[in-house]
Amino acid sequence: MEEIWKEMYAAAKSVRKERKISDYVDAGGVAAAVLSLSGKIYTGVCIDTCSTLGICAERNALFNMITNGEDKISKVLCIMPNGKTGTPCGACRELMVQLMPGDYKNIEIMLDYEKDERVTLGELTPKWWIK
Ligand SMILES: [Zn+2]
Repeated sequence: MEEIWKEMYAAAKSVRKERKISDYVDAGGVAAAVLSLSGKIYTGVCIDTCSTLGICAERNALFNMITNGEDKISKVLCIMPNGKTGTPCGACRELMVQLMPGDYKNIEIMLDYEKDERVTLGELTPKWWIK
């Protein structure tokens, strides 16, 4: 396995701390690490609210990347509540496609960290609704 995946896993794991923030908000059950094309890792955790105000960990990490002036994604890794890696949901996939409509298919996603099984966003999202 490439060293960068281990760094991304460690980065996501370090922020994944499920916690109750208020009677209406939980956070941290899922954590994500996004590697930008420049090689920097951005993390995010899910924020779950009693309405639709929350956000997925993956989009939170993508927004963190954008907040810090970057906009090109190289790799994505998500750690789910069960501690295993998993794929981004449809909304997060859609955001990544919209951020990189010309080359989103090359974004690598860790499917199963223990088996070092990866897929591309192109494999997960072969036919985009706009193109
Ligand atoms: Zn999502």
